[in-house]
Amino acid sequence: MLVVPGTTLAALQRAPLLDPVDQRILLCHALGITRTALITQSDRALTDAEAAGVSALLQRRLAGEPVAYIVGRREFYGLDFQVGPGVLIPRPETELLVELALERLPPRGRVLDMGTGSGAIAVAIAHARPDAQVTALDVSPDALAIARRNAERHGVTVHFQHSDWFTAVAQGTFDLIVSNPPYIAAGDRHLSEGDLRFEPPGALTDHADGLSALRTIIEGAPAHLVAGGWLLMEHGYDQSAAVQALLSSRSYAGVQSWHDLAGIARVTGGRASAPGEG
Ligand code: GLN
Repeated sequence: MLVVPGTTLAALQRAPLLDPVDQRILLCHALGITRTALITQSDRALTDAEAAGVSALLQRRLAGEPVAYIVGRREFYGLDFQVGPGVLIPRPETELLVELALERLPPRGRVLDMGTGSGAIAVAIAHARPDAQVTALDVSPDALAIARRNAERHGVTVHFQHSDWFTAVAQGTFDLIVSNPPYIAAGDRHLSEGDLRFEPPGALTDHADGLSALRTIIEGAPAHLVAGGWLLMEHGYDQSAAVQALLSSRSYAGVQSWHDLAGIARVTGGRASAPGEG
């Protein structure tokens, strides 16, 4: 056993067996206690069962499993999301996409989230803007089931649709389209590192040059956007120039990129031209 019975919470935190933040989250989860209780109950000694439970979770983390999958949840945009191995774990940099979308969404605006995964983007938008009409699609039925639960959990209405990109989307008119698509190129070494090893490959990589999903979205979006409607996409750290070029070649206006908190150009977008323009 990694942690022997009788070990106190104080001792565990003095000599953490893994990243202290990860360990704190796993301890709270294993013992069913709050972060505050970890401090106020620092003299508490683990029983046999508790030591076994804590050991099992720490062992899984040491074997590389993402903390979010072990505890089944991750916070995004101030909301608690259910996650599991069927969906990408929401990343803090994706909050930039939500902020940019909220700034551009007109009153009672219609927004489409393509490749919603856990539903993080769609649910965060719907939660911040109850007037919005939010549609979210994914090709994975497992992802849609989790996304639906996240919408219910936060009491928001999102219209979920099973679709491979635009194939099942009716012609029509969104004021805004957002997406955090798979954008890692096939064979990229990041796919075999860290949390990514445990995440659904289809949420991470296009199994091609990293730009194929972005291309599909850029090509299809004008037929589904009102004139002047924004398309906003998250992409990889080195893809902003390529995504800008794709948007410009399809006559989008106002093409630009925005930086995440790490200073990386992370979201690129443009506005659909009015019919006949460009
Ligand atoms: N941002 C994720 C990562 O690089 C990838 C997410 C995605 O492909 N959309 O860890």
